Amino acid sequence: MNLAKFPRRGYLNGPTPLEAAPNFSKALGGKVNIYIKRDDLLPGAAGGNKTRKLDFSIAEALEQGADTIITCGAVQSNHCRLTLSWAVKEGLDCHLVLEERVKGSYNPHASGNNFLFHLMGVKSVRVVPGGSNMMEEMEKTAAELRAGGKKPYIVPGGASNPVGATGYVNCAEEVLRQLFDMHLKIDAMVVPSGSAGTHAGTVVGMVGNNAGIPVLGMNVSRTKPVQEELVYKLACATAERVGAPAIPRNAVECFDAYVGPGYSLPTDAMVEAVTLLARTEAILLDPVYSGKAAAGLVDLVRKGHFPEGSNVLFLHTGGSPALYAYLDSFKDK
Ligand SMILES: *Cc1c(COP(=O)(O)O)cnc(C)c1O
Repeated sequence: MNLAKFPRRGYLNGPTPLEAAPNFSKALGGKVNIYIKRDDLLPGAAGGNKTRKLDFSIAEALEQGADTIITCGAVQSNHCRLTLSWAVKEGLDCHLVLEERVKGSYNPHASGNNFLFHLMGVKSVRVVPGGSNMMEEMEKTAAELRAGGKKPYIVPGGASNPVGATGYVNCAEEVLRQLFDMHLKIDAMVVPSGSAGTHAGTVVGMVGNNAGIPVLGMNVSRTKPVQEELVYKLACATAERVGAPAIPRNAVECFDAYVGPGYSLPTDAMVEAVTLLARTEAILLDPVYSGKAAAGLVDLVRKGHFPEGSNVLFLHTGGSPALYAYLDSFKDK
């Protein structure tokens, strides 16, 4: 694969660290060695996985002559925060459409990412009910802006289309290079699986390089069959874009046991995982994605899912600003 042929803006600042988590591994019994890929340390305000995707998405926007970016997400969306962040750097206007997936959860004065939307000067925030057709809602905003003489470009939710997912094909290749340099054999990789671009791109990068590293996706909202189909479809489309071989259906594996009552709703296992990683490695997860994915990792390690002596790589996708909107979930810890 020659990813260099695709337009991108150059938002990456070299590879993100891939580091051992010895204290965390020990706290989980010491039979599995956990490593963490620190995509929480990517550039862009407060970091996180969307920077790899937006590197390609915003390049396409600029190629098309856009002066305005529209995107969407949940009320504490990291994707919206990072899209706004890169729009600010590029001198582009940014408008957000927020989906109130949990009724009554939108608070215009909330902390976390919501605070950062306003701090970074979002041009507009429009909140729509959960279940709305977000592409249609963004098209409405685009039509209004066009009528006012603007040239809007729509980044789909999570930048999870083949353009954005190319960023995670690159991440997989970056990981393989790092493992070679570290002389480290990884037996499995655990990633959060939300709008699916991260999971799909990682699978394409691993399969396309014949890496032999299974990628385990931890769902944050959907059931296993629904999420696997979503990831598989996007992986196939992304493979076609980047020129990777066909993706076998069984390369896509999701776990839905750690979602809890629903998207963004806290679980005890998430609180435990976030607290444990904070107290063993001083690494900050988030309550919605990396915290639930880590809860899945913790459970699989404890259940003996990975053979003794395995090396498991956890992809830390960022999101820690959302912690500050979940203080109540952590108050007795
Ligand atoms: C968006 C997001 C994810 C999920 O990535 P997708 O590509 O949407 O599946 C995981 N972690 C964090 C912190 C995110 O913001």
